[in-house]
Amino acid sequence: MPQKPLPFTKSQIEKIIKKYPTPFHIYDEKAIRENARDFKNAFSWNKGFKEFFAVKAAPNPYLVKILHKESYGADCSSLAELIMVQKTGILGEEIMFSSNDTPVEDFLLAKKLKAIINLDDISHIAYLEKYAGLPSLICFRYNPGKLKRGNHIIGHPEEAKYGFTREQLFEGYKICKETGVKRFGIHTMVGSNELDPYYFVETAEILFQLIVEISRKLKIKFEFVNIGGGVGIPYRPEQKRIDLKVMSRGIREKYEKIIIANGLAPLKLFAECGRYITGPYGYLVSRVLHIKDTYKRFAGLDSCMANLMRPALYGAYHHITVIGKEHKPHKFVYDVTGSLCENNDKFAIDRKLPELEQGDIIVIHDAGAHGFAMGFNYNGKLRSAELLLRENGEVVQIRRAETVKDYFTTLDFKGLTNFKV
Ligand SMILES: *Cc1c(COP(=O)(O)O)cnc(C)c1O
Repeated sequence: MPQKPLPFTKSQIEKIIKKYPTPFHIYDEKAIRENARDFKNAFSWNKGFKEFFAVKAAPNPYLVKILHKESYGADCSSLAELIMVQKTGILGEEIMFSSNDTPVEDFLLAKKLKAIINLDDISHIAYLEKYAGLPSLICFRYNPGKLKRGNHIIGHPEEAKYGFTREQLFEGYKICKETGVKRFGIHTMVGSNELDPYYFVETAEILFQLIVEISRKLKIKFEFVNIGGGVGIPYRPEQKRIDLKVMSRGIREKYEKIIIANGLAPLKLFAECGRYITGPYGYLVSRVLHIKDTYKRFAGLDSCMANLMRPALYGAYHHITVIGKEHKPHKFVYDVTGSLCENNDKFAIDRKLPELEQGDIIVIHDAGAHGFAMGFNYNGKLRSAELLLRENGEVVQIRRAETVKDYFTTLDFKGLTNFKV
């Protein structure tokens, strides 16, 4: 049975559960830091390289602070994320603000923080100018449309809601130049959870060529190119990690052939990955609450899709380890479910596992990005705690679990007494 490693032993996790009841998410600081360094080092040939961690993947200020210590910036998409990174101590051009359908309050705060503002649409130029004023540095998100093959999570680029068309880019940079904007960047993000390194080489090539054309035509200079996030992780134990060396070398070759050859260097290379940075190093720890035998065999956990929605949302595979039973024969087939009144609330369907019993500790792997983050309260379900396994082996709680009281804070039960029906 293929396995995925865990950063804790059975007795360690049992000790943690004594203090922090299941379910909870736990993140491995050491692995996150090592991975963050490897990712950064892979692109060291580009002097201006910077990764802006996509906060939406794991919106916890403790994780953002760890990554900032590794010299990462933050990629934010909303007002709340901007406030979170501000409180973490990240400011100015270490923040990339990539939003869409953006409310004015968000632009105002991004501008105040002097974040790099990445516009999703040409109409946002006038909107930003009217309500917040244009910043001196501007970036646009490009949607290559049919020029680029899609990816099953985001879909075909020409059907995606994001970004400027090619023609709109020329028009947009021209308007900004004429309005006095001096500094320029370009961005795209077309795929998600992509494991093919050449996908990103092709993305970079498309952007590099556009930079040549736009800079020539409009006589503007680009400071940076942001190739977005979307670098995938191997959710299945038999899958391989993306080869960063191949990806980096490929992008470097295109940089030399297109950017350097056209006299447009130096150009800073930016990325804004979320999943690749923290995904494999977060775990949802849960217990078996009930075993049920009907037309199928079900193992019901004390967590549900409110704690990890990816399997229900995309049919995504998340590997499962049953603590202490790793070496038992995996010859029992289960649907591993949550407690939501939705039949797609299943962490796994027809999964071969060792025989399960009530109380077994279940670890769901690769929950460190787009895991806790996608949590919700449907069915009155509460978000779990988030824990951090520090490099010295200590465990700290970096977010407490929600309580029923939290769930009711926006309701006024007193008003119900005087509410005549
Ligand atoms: C979601 C998102 C990211 C991060 O995506 P990952 O798949 O976690 O790398 C980066 N940039 C933008 C604009 C996004 O919407």
